[in-house]
Amino acid sequence: MERIVLNPVKIPYDMDKMELLKGLKTDSKNYEMILEIIENTGEMIKPRAILKWCNVEKVEQGSVTLMGQTFISKLLFDKLYNLEKVLLNIVTAGDELDVLKGKYSASVVDIIKYTILIETRKEVKNYISDIFGYNNIAELCPGSLPDWPVENNQYLFEMIGEASDIGVALKKDYFMTPINTVSGILYADDKDFINCRLCKKSCIGRRKPFNESEYLRIFKQNEINEG
Ligand code: SF4
Repeated sequence: MERIVLNPVKIPYDMDKMELLKGLKTDSKNYEMILEIIENTGEMIKPRAILKWCNVEKVEQGSVTLMGQTFISKLLFDKLYNLEKVLLNIVTAGDELDVLKGKYSASVVDIIKYTILIETRKEVKNYISDIFGYNNIAELCPGSLPDWPVENNQYLFEMIGEASDIGVALKKDYFMTPINTVSGILYADDKDFINCRLCKKSCIGRRKPFNESEYLRIFKQNEINEG
């Protein structure tokens, strides 16, 4: 099915417009450095993405089949069982800013790269809404939850095809390079879904509280019924 390469993805590259940075205090330690980097690297950055349409071929309790590949996952079953199509995707912030490490603090450069990734993911969703009319787009990423581990990246890469045209490679441990890269399945009409709601980890990056009833509904229902 159709494979779409967005290279580059145009993002708002501005301190006042990027979600992670717009609230940064002007007297904070790294503000001036971040500002200087962003003001001077607009031409350098090349965030990019691949999208690929994919039919949901079969859904059975606890598994979903896409393009002949069956994924064993209660989460995927719960989220995709009534859908006909989804979009496989790989999105990367790129590694163009790495050359600045040494001149600037590496951790500050990494913060900016992560910010670029967040904005790129947002713009990819905007693109899908604008072109295909999908709304409330959510994503399922291998490795985000134990139910669908990172090893599934190997199948996603086979299904999407070569990702070297956006400079992304899959490593032997199934994580991707460059570092600020995500892969997964995008699907429509799930405004409230976010992995944190189903994740029990203690984590400073948590964006929503753990939702125990939803967790039990998706992951434990069968076990409870069988028990
Ligand atoms: S709580 Fe942390 S580890 Fe868990 S899904 Fe959210 S960000 Fe990831």
